[in-house]
Amino acid sequence: MATAVSTVAGEDGHPMQDLSKMIPGPILLLGAPGVGKGTQAKQLVQLWDIPQISTGDLLRANVKNGTELGKMANEIMQKGQLVPDSLVNEMVALRLTEPDVKRGFILDGFPRTLVQANWLDEKLAKQSSDPADTPASTLPVVAVSIQVDYTQLLRRITGRRNCPVCQTIYNIYLQPPKVDGICDVEGAALVQRSDDTESCFAGRMLTYQSLTAPVVEHYRALSRFAEVNGDQPVADVAASIVSSVERLRA
Ligand code: AMP
Repeated sequence: MATAVSTVAGEDGHPMQDLSKMIPGPILLLGAPGVGKGTQAKQLVQLWDIPQISTGDLLRANVKNGTELGKMANEIMQKGQLVPDSLVNEMVALRLTEPDVKRGFILDGFPRTLVQANWLDEKLAKQSSDPADTPASTLPVVAVSIQVDYTQLLRRITGRRNCPVCQTIYNIYLQPPKVDGICDVEGAALVQRSDDTESCFAGRMLTYQSLTAPVVEHYRALSRFAEVNGDQPVADVAASIVSSVERLRA
């Protein structure tokens, strides 16, 4: 069960109430590349004890393992473009059959197109009318969009470095490791994602504006939507997300 409940402070600075009993249900984290969806998802995973489902991570695992999907996706990802909807939807469908999603899940980086959003809405609507339902699947999706301005995003993306062992995320400008290029926890050499360069970032932002920004509008039009300021310390962003989800689930 969650152990980090009391570590997330509410917006008033006091610890959040024990939310571990709340069934979080399906949660979407939306926002441009670099707004901190992955970082925030990891905070929420600890708090609610539900899995983070990052389509970017799943695709990178496929690339690393040399699967057919990985071979197809690799070149597309290098260009900052989107992997075809049908492939990503299939990958998400498979992930959602795992038992750890019973109380809910945090989708990070999905849906990224209106086709994906409509597919997800339909899939969850079908599940919620299924008599074999789990508690989470009867809950509607809650979408939270994280906002950060372009210049800040550029610094976050081009400065981002990951530990290949423990996956801790650093930023050489904003949150550097104690020793240049080395993970504080594991002592491993940090790596930069190959699509975190300035030229690739520009392509990813164009893709975001044309294909993913309409997804944010899609969920804004439904009533279970919140926007949070992502240009704050990690714990403050997490607290804003938690209070938004709590409000939208009330
Ligand atoms: P991310 O780690 O979320 O920034 O994703 C890295 C890359 O994976 C993206 O630039 C896309 O090429 C691909 N990708 C991740 N999620 C999706 C998605 N939902 N649909 C299509 N492509 C995706």
